[in-house]
Amino acid sequence: MAEIIKGKPVADQISADLAREVGRLRDLGVIPGLTIVRVGARGDDLAYERGALKRCEQIGIGTRVCELPEDISQDDFIDVLKGVNDDAATHGILLFRPLPAHLNEEELKYVISPEKDVDCFSPVNVAKLVEGDPSGFPPCTPTAVMEILKFHKVAIKGRRAVVLGRSMVVGKPAALLLLNEDATVTVCHSRTSDLAHEMARADIVVAAVGRARMVKAEYVKSGAVVIDVGINVDEQGNLCGDVDFDACQSQAGMITPVPGGVGSVTTSVLAKHVVKACRQLTGLSHEG
Ligand code: NDP
Repeated sequence: MAEIIKGKPVADQISADLAREVGRLRDLGVIPGLTIVRVGARGDDLAYERGALKRCEQIGIGTRVCELPEDISQDDFIDVLKGVNDDAATHGILLFRPLPAHLNEEELKYVISPEKDVDCFSPVNVAKLVEGDPSGFPPCTPTAVMEILKFHKVAIKGRRAVVLGRSMVVGKPAALLLLNEDATVTVCHSRTSDLAHEMARADIVVAAVGRARMVKAEYVKSGAVVIDVGINVDEQGNLCGDVDFDACQSQAGMITPVPGGVGSVTTSVLAKHVVKACRQLTGLSHEG
């Protein structure tokens, strides 16, 4: 029977370490600051925002929400973003995506300051992720996957990992982060011809597909570590992951639940990135 690895202890550990670090920075007169830029008021953005604000405030990070009208023009949005880039109290910027269709993300991703871009919108941070440059900011969700693996001392080096999904927010960065830790990585997607075959040898599975309970027990190698990023609502209206949790529990060695797994670590990673951005921007070392 698999060990169920919850996100909360991971999030609590990260938050406790950060609170100490923020305390040291505050003693030096520096308050790490996050600005959330939100266009409109989508339910999932608001839910994430509430969690992020609560987490940051617990840790001692300053927060600000820049709420913009749904019909804001591209030029006005650029002006706002440049203003946030220039705001000395802001060290980290979280921009909720996708933006409304009339806003051109391809242009905007070059406007956000890479040094403050704590969720990997800027191509500079994508490049740093590809290069394995530790000064960059990989997206928070796949970073939360890595934090869970590290917290639970899951060996990554030399092991076979299969990532299901190749989006720029989860699948691809998760694959790169695993590769940067010396895993042998296979990325699967909707055109993968034999998913069961690809998964059969995986020591680590990261599922980021967006299909309720798609990963069945027969796909999972005995003893594999299964990290479920998916957030889905099933036909009965219940929240569930991409992994058939009940069925895979007997097969996996470790498995994350949904809810209560990866999602609960993401806001702690966001906070960690804000503090890192603050240190890098102010030139203050880890020890303060
Ligand atoms: P996307 O829809 O952008 O990407 C889904 C990926 O899954 C695509 O690469 C797609 O392949 C692949 N896919 C779809 N169907 C299949 C299939 N049958 N077999 C194999 N691969 C398939 O989703 P996201 O990456 O944004 O999100 C993935 C999941 O993670 C969602 O459930 C989302 O809600 C959740 N999520 C959770 C977060 C958290 O904090 N826990 C944060 C962000 C997302 P192709 O590229 O070929 O289309």
